[in-house]
Amino acid sequence: MTGEKIMTERYEVIVCGGGMVGAATACALAHGGIKVALLDRFNPARQWPQEPIDNRVSALTKASQNILETLGAWPGMVQRGVCAYRDMRVWDARGDGELHFDCADTAFSELGHLVENRVTVAALWDVLDTLSFAHCISPAKVVDMQLNETGRQLVLEDGRILEADLIIAADGRDSALRTMAGISVTGWDYHQDGLVATVSTELSHQSTAWQRFLEEGPLAFLPLNNGQSSIVWTLSSATAKNHLALADKEFLLVLEQASGGILGKMLEVGPRAAVPLRFQYANNYIAERFAVCGDAAHAMHPLAGQGVNAGLLDAAALAELVIQTKQENRPLASTRFLRRYERWRKGDNLMMMASMDVLNKTYAMTTQPLVSLRSAGMNWVNHSALIKAHFNHYAMGLRDDLPKLAKKQICW
Ligand SMILES: Cc1cc2nc3c(=O)[nH]c(=O)nc-3n(C[C@H](O)[C@H](O)[C@H](O)COP(=O)(O)OP(=O)(O)OC[C@H]3O[C@@H](n4cnc5c(N)ncnc54)[C@H](O)[C@@H]3O)c2cc1C
Repeated sequence: MTGEKIMTERYEVIVCGGGMVGAATACALAHGGIKVALLDRFNPARQWPQEPIDNRVSALTKASQNILETLGAWPGMVQRGVCAYRDMRVWDARGDGELHFDCADTAFSELGHLVENRVTVAALWDVLDTLSFAHCISPAKVVDMQLNETGRQLVLEDGRILEADLIIAADGRDSALRTMAGISVTGWDYHQDGLVATVSTELSHQSTAWQRFLEEGPLAFLPLNNGQSSIVWTLSSATAKNHLALADKEFLLVLEQASGGILGKMLEVGPRAAVPLRFQYANNYIAERFAVCGDAAHAMHPLAGQGVNAGLLDAAALAELVIQTKQENRPLASTRFLRRYERWRKGDNLMMMASMDVLNKTYAMTTQPLVSLRSAGMNWVNHSALIKAHFNHYAMGLRDDLPKLAKKQICW
């Protein structure tokens, strides 16, 4: 013991978790003149060799692109590598159902972009470095949280104490802060894993996101800039374990068979990993001087690639309300605006999660009449321009009631 007095560092807002959602939240707040600290237990990588491409990749919607552009992160992402996808093809391995979405049917030149998660994080942290209201603290692991009359305090593993009017937890699916705030979750394990890897294929991906529904779950091939594809393959946890243990050559054969040959021979595969999948939502998004966002609020099945897109909408909505509250000279501890945040985002997120869950269950059905019905439904949607346009719009994140950032408008 040195006998030194531990000083409490004070901020208006502290965001815990500097992943894609937390970093975007902090970035928006700092743009809005809010004194914000962003904490993460790891210091995110900013540079890496061009190859290999990381196997954690996300499909980002137009709405997410709007948010990241308005925050100033998009140029740093483009410089590190983003890949536009212009087409999406979904088909059923057991029936004749198929869906085809084409950007030509929209007002845009692409349906969305595939981006390595680390690219989005690095570009956001780069922007944060340039904002005088932002203070990035990493590595910094939060080990305790207390509520007192003047604010909420966070205790870091190294003994530092930080205090703020408002704490935002963006610390992921297993959020420790959510538990510390006494917020319970509802959820279940899918007993499925998302097997991820980067593969080289004989045929070009044609800037198309391909998804084939198989008995155990969908297999997606997502196009990457260098001609490779990022795969997300939903499998039972047991099968995923077996597939991870296969030698590369054997795995490529199994994958080729599962792909239905759509991209020809599978030539090479990078490191493989499997992420256990959960359906989980926070029963409340807020507590006194506290809010959750991103995966800390909702973890959903990745089959339609909507998790981080939903999280970025949380970030944009929450930041907009905090900035508005400050501009109106009202206290950031006010529960009124926090309730508005919960009302704004919780219903939308639950609807998205429920749709993913129903889709996952629908495609798990194997009895022939149900398979035929499913295929008929897919083909009906595929031939209805109006319904397809509606699906497209929703999948691109362009729905009603979007936060300003998602409409490419500043909120500060
Ligand atoms: C296989 C797979 C494919 C997916 N594909 C897509 C897709 O195509 N499109 C899409 O929209 N979504 C996709 N998702 C979902 C997406 O990956 C998540 O929604 C997203 O990563 C959540 O981001 P986040 O910032 O909320 O949380 P995280 O990425 O989990 O970040 C949490 C951060 O908090 C930090 N942290 C945790 N605890 C502490 C602590 N105590 N103290 C300090 N820091 C802490 C962590 O270090 C981390 O940086 C996919 C998910 C999976 C599993």
